[in-house]
Amino acid sequence: MYCSNNIESLIDDLSNKKVIIYGAGKIGKRIYQTLKKDNISIDRFWDNNYSLHTSIDEVPVDKPNLEFLEKDNVFIIVTIYAKNVTEEIVSQLSASGFKNILYDRQTINNLIYGECAKEVQRHTHIFDLNRCHICPVSKDLDDRCDIYDRFVEKELMVSSKNSSGVIIPSMGILVSNRCNLKCIGCNQLRDFYKKSDIVDIKAVDVISDVMKISNAVGKIEKIVVVGGEALLHKEINVIIEKLISIPNVGILQFITNGSVLPKNDLIFSLLSNKKVKVEVSGYGDFLSSNAKSNVVSVLKKLEKYSVNFEYEKTLQWFDFGDFQDRKYSPERLKHVYDTCCFVSNDLFNGELHKCARSVFGKHLGKVADFKNDYVDIRNSKDEELSEIINEFMKNRTPQICQHCNGTSSLTISAGKQ
Ligand code: SF4
Ligand code: SF4
Repeated sequence: MYCSNNIESLIDDLSNKKVIIYGAGKIGKRIYQTLKKDNISIDRFWDNNYSLHTSIDEVPVDKPNLEFLEKDNVFIIVTIYAKNVTEEIVSQLSASGFKNILYDRQTINNLIYGECAKEVQRHTHIFDLNRCHICPVSKDLDDRCDIYDRFVEKELMVSSKNSSGVIIPSMGILVSNRCNLKCIGCNQLRDFYKKSDIVDIKAVDVISDVMKISNAVGKIEKIVVVGGEALLHKEINVIIEKLISIPNVGILQFITNGSVLPKNDLIFSLLSNKKVKVEVSGYGDFLSSNAKSNVVSVLKKLEKYSVNFEYEKTLQWFDFGDFQDRKYSPERLKHVYDTCCFVSNDLFNGELHKCARSVFGKHLGKVADFKNDYVDIRNSKDEELSEIINEFMKNRTPQICQHCNGTSSLTISAGKQ
């Protein structure tokens, strides 16, 4: 096992071994970029969903091989975001005789941050929103990246309301639960809806809820706009235009399945704002030919309007399981929550929840109404909201997690209809 804050000696160790990055997702790619700058070559990536990937910069993505022969001569860096999946992988690797395994999140973050800090010192650092977007350091709630925070505050926000206020690192805005697809295992529970369960939140209400929150906190570093399918919302242009202009909101991420072609180009023009990052979820062959052709058209429009976007073709979803009460002990409940990488602070219809499962579990009556799990924005007094949101952010034992597997190695194909 490897845990070190001595980054120079870690880099030396890595230079003398064959390096394998376990996990070809965002963190894997970010650590790859970092090591490349230190002239450390990567032998290969390992990924359980290797068939979804081709190669990354010509480095092959292979199936993990526990029988790998050169166990003493290999250094494996485990880069899986879900901590409990990391724990499972590390125990398998250790049991198979691998000795040099780096998985400690803090050390990985220090390694990445160290590279950026060196660039800042040398005055060669150029801020790249896409690089920070995949970087685990930008998501570290306990040890913030000052380089990233400084940039978001100076370049993307008009102002931060007050330095002592609550900071929301990321908040989802679910503008509607209407979707043109019906994916099995959708974390917004789309496969459970009846028509009468669909709610499009009026733009005026979305905006008033967000304004109330933004007035109560110091800053919201990132807002993630998502549906259902957000492009189906009739007033999505009004919502996006307003969100971009809120002074203490930093990055705006917009997630779409790309299979709905908007009637006019105004949305693409709005999305070309430098604050915005668009993610198109790629569901490949699960889509109808009509939906696939819309995806091609949407991608072309994004290119035409120079939108900063990414087409995610290697998605896998976690299997959160059914809504039975798991009866976790208090310690276990906290662990399930702490190791979950789906805590997204989602706002839907005036309520701020920990995640979409909490929103829609309640909305569809799959679980009881756990009042302490969410903030009722519309019925909270302005002068009390800051403290209420602060308490909500600190809650690490939401009751909804009693009805969830959490993030684990159980996954399902993304987009299967
Ligand atoms: S979040 Fe920080 S460490 Fe990560 S890429 Fe951005 S500046 Fe570098
Ligand atoms: S219910 Fe809890 S464990 Fe499940 S996705 Fe939401 S925050 Fe994560």
